[in-house]
This record gives sequence, C-alpha cells and structure tokens, in this order.
Amino acid sequence: MIEFVSVSRNYGDKLAVAQLDLKIPSGELFALLGPNGAGKTTTIRMMVGLLQPTSGQVRICGHDVVTETRQANRHLGLVPDEPYLYDKLSGREFLSFVADIHGLDRNDAAARIDREIDQFELRPFVDDRTETYSHGMKQRLAFAAALLHEPAVLVVDEPMVGLDPRSIRLVKDLLKAKARSGMTIFMSTHSLSAVEEIADRIGILDHGQMKFLGTLAELRKLSVAEHTSLEHLYLHMTDGLPAERSASQATAP
Ligand code: ATP
Repeated sequence: MIEFVSVSRNYGDKLAVAQLDLKIPSGELFALLGPNGAGKTTTIRMMVGLLQPTSGQVRICGHDVVTETRQANRHLGLVPDEPYLYDKLSGREFLSFVADIHGLDRNDAAARIDREIDQFELRPFVDDRTETYSHGMKQRLAFAAALLHEPAVLVVDEPMVGLDPRSIRLVKDLLKAKARSGMTIFMSTHSLSAVEEIADRIGILDHGQMKFLGTLAELRKLSVAEHTSLEHLYLHMTDGLPAERSASQATAP
C-alpha cells in the first residue's frame, strides 16, 4: 500500500506538489495523469526516495520513505521512464547484479532471473551487452529487474513509451495480473487508452493539485453525455473548461 499524507514539494518558490493526500491499497492499479509540468515526476521521485517532501510524509507498506528508507525500498520496485542500465553488462549480468543488491541467494536468484527472462521474452538478446539494446528492449529489462525481488509495490513511469504493440500488450496484461495477485501498482502515463483499459482508479494532477481522484465511471459522471471518452474528460479537467457537474461530486481524496 502507498500513502501520501499532506505531501508538498517546493523547488525554491515554485510549489510543484501541493498538500497531496492519497491512499492506494494493495491490489489496486492506480494511474496518475496530468499535463507536462503537473508534478507527476516530482510525486514519483518522492515516492521512491529520490526527493524529500518539503512537508508531509510518504509511506510504502507503512514505512516512511525518508526515515525508514531501507524498509520502504524492500517493498518497492521502480521502472523509470529512462531505464538506468550499465552499458557494458549483458542483460543477464545486470539482472544478477540487481539480485545481489537485493541479497537473493544464488539458486533463488537464478530461478527468478530465468522466470523474468521468459516473462519479458528477453531470451534472444539477454546475453548481449545492454548498450546494443533498443529503448523497448531496455524497458523490458528494466521491468524484469524491478520485479526480481517480488515487491509489494511497483512504480512505473511511462511504461508504454517506446514499446512495440506486442510489448505493450505484454506489459498491460502483466500489470493487470500483478494487481489481481495483490501488488499495488502506481503508473504515471500520458497513454489515455491504456488508462481506460487497465486502471482501477485515476488521479488527475494539474499544477501540483489533484483535480480528480476516482474511477473512470466516477469521472464519467461529471459529464452529462454518455460514453464520453477519457480524452474528452481529461481535456476538460486540465484545460480549466467547466465540467457539466462539479468535480468535487465525484472526487474522493
Ligand atoms: P512531464 O509530464 O512533463 O514529465 P511532470 O508532471 O512530471 O511533467 P514535474 O517534472 O514533476 O512535472 O514538474 C513539476 C513542476 O516542478 C514544473 O513546473 C517544473 O518546472 C518544476 N520542477 C521540476 N523539477 C524542478 C527542478 N529540479 N528545479 C526547479 N523546478 C523544477
């Protein structure tokens, strides 16, 4: 489970995230949407301990990310938008390195690495140096690395960018299946179609404020028109265009 308790973050005078309260329970696939500069990356960086909140607290499975970093990290897997890999290592060597960082014993690590190689269809290139990988191949390796230690919480930043249609299908199915098996998934994305298809709940962040928090069905209740697309609702919400009903009627922060 992920909890943000009154979390704010400033950069100098600039307020990037304002008083964010958010609780994401186990087994939920949560999607964070928002225009460029809305505060999504800042939110993710605070969640994974790369940035400290100016005020408030972020907890991963009950552990404060700032004061109990190790415990929080044990439960956390991160797939960043730009995977950090080591060019001169092969994919398999990188996965072994990540397994070592997590303190997995050799036999267990080998079995898990094999499992992830199959899951993300890495076998054809896993023994090549990662410097030869395309973006999509790197992204699939980053997914495999993030799941090796079987975290309770998976944070994914723009998971679909650069992936081919088959890999997108793979990642969507995987995220859905992981959430069904109890993993908490936090996904930041601009891919509205993916959100429509797989998210259990949506947050729309704009200028650091959560403008909407709820299900797609709740978001649709804001519009009088039936079957309104998420794109239409999202544009209304983030352009400051008046929605047909007040956002607060469907918002449950
Ligand atoms: P995008 O979709 O473009 O990636 P985002 O929603 O991830 O955007 P953030 O990167 O979190 O947005 O930025 C939120 C706000 O904070 C923006 O106004 C941005 O200019 C500002 N900001 C982000 N990082 C810094 C920084 N290191 N120093 C100063 N301001 C920053």
